[in-house]
Amino acid sequence: MRNGLDVTGEDLLLLYASQNGNAKGIAEDLYEVCVSSGLKCELKCCSEVDTLDGKTCLVLIASTTGDGDPPDTARKFWRRLNKRDTTSTTTPLASLYYTVLGLGDTNYTNFCNFGKTVDQKLCSLGAKRFYECGWADDGTGLEVVVEPWIENLPSALRTHLSTVQHQPHLTNTTQLTRHTREVILEGGCACGEQMVNMNGNTEVKESKYIPDVMKSGPDVDDRKIEQSNSSNSMSDSGRESDVERTIQHNHNNQKQTIVVESSRMLEETKDKLLTIAAKYKIDLLPQEELENLPLKSCAFPLETKLTLPILPPSYLSISYQESAEEPLTNLDTSPYPSAASEPIDTIVESVKRLTRYDAIKTTLEVKLRLSNNTLDKFEYEPGDSYGVLVRNPKCDVEMLLHLLGLTGQADNIFELSVMLDTKKKCAAVPSFIPARGFLRNILESCVDIRAIPKKPLVRSLVEHTADPKERRRLQELVSKEGAGEYSQHVRGANLSLLDLLIIFSSCQPPITTLLEHLPRLLPRAYSIISSPLINQSCVTFACNIIEIPRINSVTYSRRGISTGWFSSLCKDLCDAEDIAQPMGNLTLNAHRDIHAEIYKRSNQNFHLPKQAATPIIMVGPGTGVAPFVGFLRHREKIMAINQEQKFGESWLFYGCRHRERDFIFKEELQRFEQKQILNHFIVSFSREEEINLGSKYVQHNIVKHGNALANLLLNLQAIIYICGDAQNMAKDVFEAFVNVLDVHVDIPDFKPREYLAEMQLQRRYLQDIWS
Ligand code: NAP
Repeated sequence: MRNGLDVTGEDLLLLYASQNGNAKGIAEDLYEVCVSSGLKCELKCCSEVDTLDGKTCLVLIASTTGDGDPPDTARKFWRRLNKRDTTSTTTPLASLYYTVLGLGDTNYTNFCNFGKTVDQKLCSLGAKRFYECGWADDGTGLEVVVEPWIENLPSALRTHLSTVQHQPHLTNTTQLTRHTREVILEGGCACGEQMVNMNGNTEVKESKYIPDVMKSGPDVDDRKIEQSNSSNSMSDSGRESDVERTIQHNHNNQKQTIVVESSRMLEETKDKLLTIAAKYKIDLLPQEELENLPLKSCAFPLETKLTLPILPPSYLSISYQESAEEPLTNLDTSPYPSAASEPIDTIVESVKRLTRYDAIKTTLEVKLRLSNNTLDKFEYEPGDSYGVLVRNPKCDVEMLLHLLGLTGQADNIFELSVMLDTKKKCAAVPSFIPARGFLRNILESCVDIRAIPKKPLVRSLVEHTADPKERRRLQELVSKEGAGEYSQHVRGANLSLLDLLIIFSSCQPPITTLLEHLPRLLPRAYSIISSPLINQSCVTFACNIIEIPRINSVTYSRRGISTGWFSSLCKDLCDAEDIAQPMGNLTLNAHRDIHAEIYKRSNQNFHLPKQAATPIIMVGPGTGVAPFVGFLRHREKIMAINQEQKFGESWLFYGCRHRERDFIFKEELQRFEQKQILNHFIVSFSREEEINLGSKYVQHNIVKHGNALANLLLNLQAIIYICGDAQNMAKDVFEAFVNVLDVHVDIPDFKPREYLAEMQLQRRYLQDIWS
């Protein structure tokens, strides 16, 4: 006993509510930190928790999805919690102390709404915050809030737990182990920092209070295990390259020198990379330019000590077999985010180009055909969206395999397992990676190799970088001192792992390090344009080809994963120099059927009103018009079937850049207007000032027609639908409606913002927006 603390029992419940894996990843890291600090800690997904009754200390990491909704895995948890009575005088969670780290995106309305709502609910049930909640913004970089929040949490926990020890009703449930108590009360290093000296070598801050688990340095022994696998398998060390790795490890001073690599090997790597680049027509940044990138230059003098996050413990081990003894199972069977159906197979029926050759963005309309036996599995309404399962480009995978020295093993069967002696506490093979498979498949289909490398990955890369200058620069990027460098040169430049490996050419991580850190490759969501009343066996959607130019430290220009794949299917789009590519149907590149797997996404309210007489106001610039084309096609059909039915007024605010270049669905929309399926069709041309007459964007036209719109909203209960860009457009359009109500509603004390917020709650202000 010290300071009167009891030393048995459970301290902390660490809960996560994750949609895409971010909250789960942060919770797992935090779990490592807490356990390393000696805290007794339970890590759970919200879906595994029925009640918070009896809990005394809670940390919740909560993502928000959709329009401020809980993640799929936390819906039940939230329903139960929300049902708890707050009107009575009892405070059922009075013994609970908690904090919330919310993850969200300020590009969307209701930023961090789920975390904030849980926070309010817990308060109303009598629970008390022991540490300020954190609201992290993916729009500017989650790490900006997450890192300091996690860093300061252990000391807040320490203070809190030592305080509650003196409260008699808590001593039975809020306790620390003897070891923990010493660390928590005295250890100044609970968040696991390391200092880096002038040579770029790592030292753990000297402190007698650092727990053993934190004193152990990088898992050199672990790596040996990984490299010496059983006789009938080839280990990861059996690379085709003759790279010579020497690892010296000194357990006393925590220094390690890794990897001496022959310059001959580096030259060979570069030559091979150029060969791959030539094969796939990739415009790799020339070597001289790579060397002079600001990303590569150190920002701090060598004397500056850097504070590094603790090295994430490695936990995966891989072995390869020459041949498959057992059949392989499916690649990825864990459910996708927002999935409301199983993935079903479709065939690409056609790809059509909707924009002229000189448009600023190229828009494609893709039509997918469902087979007869999948028709009943894919019921949809106009306004629904679906996820398309995507694959990383072959050229990216080939370059990555080559840079890792694994081309020779790519098509052998591997087996992945958790190291027996890993120091990671909740180690498991990621659910989206099969424990047996082919490496090439995993890199193509399971992990997102284009994701911006997060700091824990970069921290791990440091340990596999031979060149001292490159090593030091990577350390800068993950250090506390270099936070701005990371934001600017990695996150801000939208770099991928491949960019980093190409630029930092002496960095050669084992594949297991990448599989431990790379996020899941997620499907891409698209709004359905079609109506099931017209063609049940096909779904269509529109997308812009995303072009990522070779600027800043992006080492080669490329297209988005999904839209790049769709464009690669068309002969006419493959040759970038062919500027006079036709509009209309493009020639598919294949002699055989091209398959694409899709699934329906859940939680959708973006549908036509139940009462056809309700007026609708649709706002959809660019490809945001897609679901509205579906709405109107559907309405046209219903009007033809039921000519007696009365429909409310329909308005469409559409915007594009040029009248002749990118006015997509022009003829069809004009036909809808002529037939009065669409009553008001108002278009703005943002780059043609002589014809837009001050109405550059959709919101300017909304303000212009404010009187009529205010009347529809207040007197006829119209529904507003907004689809398109979340970053700017959706916010500006919201402000335009505030303005409309402000100017045209003549009711004392009327508050436009509150009225629109109420419309959102009533599902009369609906958004389908992406950033
Ligand atoms: P876009 O780039 O948003 O541009 C369309 C028009 O909007 C242009 O004339 C542009 O003008 C203008 N614009 C720029 N800033 C604006 C602002 N603050 N307010 C209003 N208008 C503004 O169109 P897009 O490339 O087609 O992108 C649309 C968005 O919709 C994307 O974020 C996409 O992810 C999303 N989305 C797609 C689907 C789908 O199924 N494909 C569905 C829903 C949403 P200037 O360029 O001249 O400034």
